[in-house]
Amino acid sequence: MSSGSTVADKTFVLPGASVRMTDCTYCGSPVEDHDPLYVSESPDGEPTGQFCNYGCLSAHIDDEGLTTGTACEWSSSQ
Ligand SMILES: [Zn+2]
Repeated sequence: MSSGSTVADKTFVLPGASVRMTDCTYCGSPVEDHDPLYVSESPDGEPTGQFCNYGCLSAHIDDEGLTTGTACEWSSSQ
């Protein structure tokens, strides 16, 4: 599989090795205590969110309605 798998429309999972962000976008826990992953609106872009694991990512996508394809962008500060 490639490293830029699409999670939702215009959302990509980034390799997390070079990224240092601390709090889960969804639940606010320190992501590095878990199995962190990072997402962006483009494969080479700056990360717009980070999550403990795929559970938090999936829950966030559900909450934001990203699977419907109607959301063009999100705010990681909400
Ligand atoms: Zn979380």
